[in-house]
Amino acid sequence: MSSVLPEHAPLHQFPVQNDCLHIGGMALTQLAQRIGTTPFYAYDRQQMTDRVVLLRQSLPPEIQLHYAMKANPMPAVVQHLASLVDGIDVASVGEMKVALDTPMPPASVSFAGPGKKEHELRCAIAAGVLLNVESSQELALIAQLGDSLGIRPQVAIRINPNFELKSSGMKMGGGATPFGVDAECMPGLLKQIDYMGLECIGFHIFSGSQNLNTAAIQEAHENTMQLAIRLAAYASFPIKLINIGGGFGIPYFPGERPLDLLAVGETLQRLIVRLKRHIPSTRIALELGRYFVGEAGVYVCRVLERKFSRGKTFLITDGGLHHNLAASGNFGQVIRKNYPVIIGNKVRGSEREVVSVVGPLCTPLDILADQLPMAKASVGDLVVILQSGAYGLTASPQAFLNHPLPIEVLV
Ligand SMILES: *Cc1c(COP(=O)(O)O)cnc(C)c1O
Repeated sequence: MSSVLPEHAPLHQFPVQNDCLHIGGMALTQLAQRIGTTPFYAYDRQQMTDRVVLLRQSLPPEIQLHYAMKANPMPAVVQHLASLVDGIDVASVGEMKVALDTPMPPASVSFAGPGKKEHELRCAIAAGVLLNVESSQELALIAQLGDSLGIRPQVAIRINPNFELKSSGMKMGGGATPFGVDAECMPGLLKQIDYMGLECIGFHIFSGSQNLNTAAIQEAHENTMQLAIRLAAYASFPIKLINIGGGFGIPYFPGERPLDLLAVGETLQRLIVRLKRHIPSTRIALELGRYFVGEAGVYVCRVLERKFSRGKTFLITDGGLHHNLAASGNFGQVIRKNYPVIIGNKVRGSEREVVSVVGPLCTPLDILADQLPMAKASVGDLVVILQSGAYGLTASPQAFLNHPLPIEVLV
């Protein structure tokens, strides 16, 4: 029966020795002892480094890599990535603080997001970070605050493109959105900027997230570059930066396959040659969150009880949707699908079974795996949810039912 169902993409990023998963070079069982309590998130430092290396090898050398830290804002993770990437994208003053605590120069930190408050803008201008401006009202406010602070703010205009990134897990551009300035309003806006006392250095064009369709990403890059070239003609200032967004997805669900990064790189190389003919001075940045960290992280919880009910087996664990909402299927999914879930200390196991893994919350939503084949587990075994390094803990309702918080480690 299961042979007709698509399977999870093979995940080889963590080695298995003696049937036990190794994270950060350490057996999961030992790591659990070291941490001393479950549940926990563990992020593998080397996996993140390898991912940056892979991107640099696959993409044109002109491409600068920015980390969109909302994917995983753990300070140790941000510190580690700050030493590897060219910029950090933040979306709040709280994130900005973490980014500024790293050695990343403030001018390489950019601040995006709708509804930035006066207080936040003032902090960002004083910090000297780049503001990705989301509306003409925000632009006017930034100009006024810069004037009162005696600092010339650096800005880039976020553009809501006139195309969308097809087959995205989350669309953030095209159509009507709260993000950015509609492309058709840009010529008018660019005319005013000259007189505003701002330093505008370029454009930010971000159109979607969690995309595994290589052709759709290539098409979006093509459209993005074209839009940037067309709008640059209206600017009377030099375009020094074009942030072409990101949206690179990772495989979570059965049937999904990784992106063809080399193909994306080849298209970008061709597009950059054309872009440089029109705008020779510009830097080009790609901003990615999930792609840097998503596959490098696991969420680990312990089996508290095996329960049989009307023909089904449940593993009741100490972890749940309050820590990993996305794995429960309640973070932007339309139809619930299983994340890749294994028994970390019995990866193959001597016996297999089909089970549902649930958390301790008193709600039927608290499902971590629904009728998934895995090694037969006992009480005390470690359930591992793979692909959990992005949009995990901070994207979950931690206070829901008031259970203890999990620990996060970078190994
Ligand atoms: C969320 C966000 C990202 C990161 O998206 P990922 O899918 O995690 O790569 C990048 N840029 C902006 C503006 C965002 O809001």
